[in-house]
Amino acid sequence: MKVTEHIKNGNGKTQFSFEILPPLKGENIHSIFENIDPLLEFKPPYINVTYHREEYVFKDLKDGLIEKKVVRKRPGTVGICAAIQNRYEVDAVPHILCGGFTKEETENFLIDLQFLGIDNVMALRGDAVKSETYFSPEKNGHKYACDLVSQINFLNKGAYLDDELQHTFPTDFCVGVAGYPEKHMEAPSSESDIHFLKKKIKNGAEYIVTQMFFDNEKYFKFVEKCRAEGITVPIVPGLKPIAVKSHLNLIPHRFKVDLPDALVMEVVKAKDNKAVRQIGIDWCVKQSQELVKAGVPFLHYYSMGKSSNIKEIASQVF
Ligand SMILES: Cc1cc2nc3c(=O)[nH]c(=O)nc-3n(C[C@H](O)[C@H](O)[C@H](O)COP(=O)(O)OP(=O)(O)OC[C@H]3O[C@@H](n4cnc5c(N)ncnc54)[C@H](O)[C@@H]3O)c2cc1C
Repeated sequence: MKVTEHIKNGNGKTQFSFEILPPLKGENIHSIFENIDPLLEFKPPYINVTYHREEYVFKDLKDGLIEKKVVRKRPGTVGICAAIQNRYEVDAVPHILCGGFTKEETENFLIDLQFLGIDNVMALRGDAVKSETYFSPEKNGHKYACDLVSQINFLNKGAYLDDELQHTFPTDFCVGVAGYPEKHMEAPSSESDIHFLKKKIKNGAEYIVTQMFFDNEKYFKFVEKCRAEGITVPIVPGLKPIAVKSHLNLIPHRFKVDLPDALVMEVVKAKDNKAVRQIGIDWCVKQSQELVKAGVPFLHYYSMGKSSNIKEIASQVF
């Protein structure tokens, strides 16, 4: 079933969803199931699975030369989605990127998803690879998520890349896209970011999931600005609990979001990571309860592969 249908079926009640990462290459899929199992009691109608493109690793060789190796640390997005749908009968939402994909590869990826009975995709540009400063698309790939959304939308109308194909079967994907309450790091202004967000909707995306935020005011203002720009689709808030002290630096650095002073000071004063974990849970519960009161369709939790704190939060909210 499509995410938009799940939203409709919620009849205004906030529902629970979460995102997982594929395991590191070499690990077992059972580590994923162990993290999903405890969250099923909160009845997630869908689970997102992130996509991780290749990275370049540079290795010093004995002769002074440097070897450039291409490494994919977390493959398996499609396999995990199929396993989730098969094992739990819960919809899986695979993430799909512009980065690392040609249009042809995108089309083939979507065909695989369709054959597996996957109805949803989250369309993203992806970040620059670690060794590069700016994102660069593949030759004959997409530069922006809005163009990827267009390709999916064309396929939903039966328009494949090879226009000589006849009697094609249209796909029927429900497409979600990312939104940034604190603006995307490369956007010159929040207005321009929302302008391009609107383009993703115009090109066929049906809902937005936000980047994590720690101050609900940022989400409320973002929704207000989107509505003022004429974006009418559901805007699902994404939440992540702080779990360890190092998150104070890692989260702003990695995701380009601010942490409120009150939260930072509590974490700084915490005597150990057990105390930090509890502070993160309490903060996230308060955020969640306020968002439920505001009538958001879903609360979407970034589990980062660890379910125990998400379970504690969900048991206080749902
Ligand atoms: C909910 C969520 C899930 C994510 N999941 C993953 C994942 O699974 N794997 C992963 O690698 N990354 C993931 N990311 C990170 C994401 O890939 C990065 O934030 C990336 O840098 C931007 O992706 P986007 O789809 O928002 O890009 P876009 O919408 O393409 O925007 C990128 C930048 O370009 C600007 N822009 C957009 N369109 C245009 C245009 N036509 N002309 C000029 N400027 C334009 C925007 O304002 C923005 O600054 C996720 C992010 C979120 C919020």
